[in-house]
Amino acid sequence: MIPLPWSYVNFWRCTGCGLCCMNYDVVLKFDEWLRIIQRFGVGVTRAGLNKLYLGKKPDGSCIFLSRIGDKYICTLQDMKPIACKLWPFRILNRPKYGKTREALFNYKGRRLYVYIDPSCPEIRWGKPSPIMINHVIPEFIEIALGIRKKQVYSTGTLLYSLDARRKISSLFAHRRV
Ligand code: SF4
Ligand code: SF4
Repeated sequence: MIPLPWSYVNFWRCTGCGLCCMNYDVVLKFDEWLRIIQRFGVGVTRAGLNKLYLGKKPDGSCIFLSRIGDKYICTLQDMKPIACKLWPFRILNRPKYGKTREALFNYKGRRLYVYIDPSCPEIRWGKPSPIMINHVIPEFIEIALGIRKKQVYSTGTLLYSLDARRKISSLFAHRRV
């Protein structure tokens, strides 16, 4: 699907539905691949023509995807590849997918272009909420720029910090959704 500008999104959070971990190939950077095979062995990865990927289970889902009740969690948390950390957002220096004005995001004076992949079912479309502008998107940008490692808003509900849960709950309570 063609990514759409961040300014179309009222709110997004990962609910751990697991769809992205079932449907996509995860490309690894060389240092990510090296760390993963040092701990788990080369069998959890696979090589393509000129790229390295995470391995998959026979059902096509990521080898590190695990189910807990009706939720899915990533069991590779402390080494999660950056491709997974950034999903479903794309942080770019140029407006690769068009809609330049709508995709522009001013991060501390730096002009970046932020898009979201519409295939994630947890996107709520509409006017961006303050939590998106002030917390969610800045966190994705900081991860993309390599100035943040810890995930607070950009991970599954099960793994949200208490502080993030409070902020999200207050947003939902206010809007009565
Ligand atoms: S990012 Fe979206 S598709 Fe992936 S697990 Fe979270 S809610 Fe599901
Ligand atoms: S490494 Fe984790 S987040 Fe990435 S696809 Fe696998 S289970 Fe999903």
